[in-house]
Amino acid sequence: MHRPGTESLPLRVCTVGSGPSAFYATEALFKAPGLRVQVDMFDRLPVPYGLVRGGVAPDHQNIKAVVKIYEKIAANPGFRFFGNVKLGRDLQVADLLAHYHAVIWAVGAESDNKLGVPGEDLAGVHSATEFVGWYNSHPDFRDRRFDLARARTVAVVGNGNVAMDVARVLLQDPAALATTDLAEHALATLRTSTVREVVLLGRRGPAQAAFSPKELEEIAELPDVDVVVRADEAVVDPLSAAWLEKEGARSQQRNARLIAEHAAHGDGSKARKLRCRFLVAPVELQGDNGRLTQVRLQHATLAADADGTPRPVAKDSFETLAVDLVFKAVGYRGIPVPGVPFDNKKGIIPNRDGRVLESPAGQRVAGQYVVGWAKRGPTGLIGTNSADSKATVESLLQDLAADGLAAPTRTDISDLLRQRHIDHVSWQDWLRLDAWEQSQGKARGRVRWKLPSVEELLRTVHALRGEAATQI
Ligand code: NAP
Repeated sequence: MHRPGTESLPLRVCTVGSGPSAFYATEALFKAPGLRVQVDMFDRLPVPYGLVRGGVAPDHQNIKAVVKIYEKIAANPGFRFFGNVKLGRDLQVADLLAHYHAVIWAVGAESDNKLGVPGEDLAGVHSATEFVGWYNSHPDFRDRRFDLARARTVAVVGNGNVAMDVARVLLQDPAALATTDLAEHALATLRTSTVREVVLLGRRGPAQAAFSPKELEEIAELPDVDVVVRADEAVVDPLSAAWLEKEGARSQQRNARLIAEHAAHGDGSKARKLRCRFLVAPVELQGDNGRLTQVRLQHATLAADADGTPRPVAKDSFETLAVDLVFKAVGYRGIPVPGVPFDNKKGIIPNRDGRVLESPAGQRVAGQYVVGWAKRGPTGLIGTNSADSKATVESLLQDLAADGLAAPTRTDISDLLRQRHIDHVSWQDWLRLDAWEQSQGKARGRVRWKLPSVEELLRTVHALRGEAATQI
């Protein structure tokens, strides 16, 4: 058999998803020595970049600047983008396998974990996923409503960086967000906000907080916000102290110090407060006439699990906290792709070293690979995906070297998309839309102006395509 990867027979790979993990996998393929490769990248949205566009907070433009790296990867002549193409609707897995030597699933984790307590469906209870998508103009969430104009106190459940993003967006002066690419509908709502307090609810102690210390520092540096911690909850218990010393990350050690410093400063005198609570878990969200009014919290203590990790153990002690809104920020969760194996327990595509398996302990599925949150679960920063995607590509290249990749029967997927009248967005279309979004933003004193619906995005892509055609 003639092994693909040569000038006359390039290796053909597609990624499904166009977030960081997809781009890092593409980069690893393009950098493989002596390999001639073509990568087609699909996304169900008309725009690329996954969570960099739809997840990273608008006031973190320095993090969003990572797309400069992805633009360079996309400039490789072997790269094509197919936006507005959805698996299960426009294409099936079999279509991909017929056209590519390998398919890389880079579909992320699009849903969120539930709390699993009574009252989760009350009006006023939201997931952070919805809120983050809404303020980032993600088309899936444009119609969500958040009643910030009637809220004073908001509880955010969870102690990760998403919880911190939500807290910061809620507490920050909207004027500071007005120059970013925050969705216009979100800016209008935030301008009416009466939120003065965000209560962050951590089920473990300060030493186990999952957020990065700089996220806490960033909120503490906001001109109008005090970070407030109860002295009794800032204490690092002996179990956590030993755990921190032995295996705590530097970020966790720093968090524990910062939290103790804030506890020493009392309530402060600023108008807005971030209250960090620890060792409390919501056991019921309670309401009146279907609308949230308070959260019943159960207190906890920490005990070592079998690995020695401090875990919360519920105490027979409760309190209620009056709140107007709750945002659940307790982690993302993957959703199944039609026709692709799914590990329902972990919410990921089952895999070994990035090679897709039929089930968690099952056989390999030939020609299919997985990267990013769909591979390892929703953990890690954007950069974590670089090494992780490289590792999956390493598996793919080993399989290629072992002649383990089946030859596709068809050549160019564009023919199939054309036959099916699927109006895909190309990279050239995206570059024009990208320039348009930036120029529209500039005219409004903002870094970028994002349209919040697929229809509006496609209409603009078509208009820009038409303009480009008349200029030739
Ligand atoms: P995360 O870091 O896993 O944090 C989830 C938090 O929810 C943890 O504090 C966890 O507590 C808590 N939790 C889970 N189930 C709970 C329950 N039933 N009740 C109460 N609390 C519960 O997840 P994330 O915040 O969604 O972030 C996902 C990833 O994206 C992370 O790697 C994060 O660092 C990254 N991210 C980074 C940035 C940034 O760099 N600025 C911004 C956003 C996201 P336990 O620890 O006790 O399980």
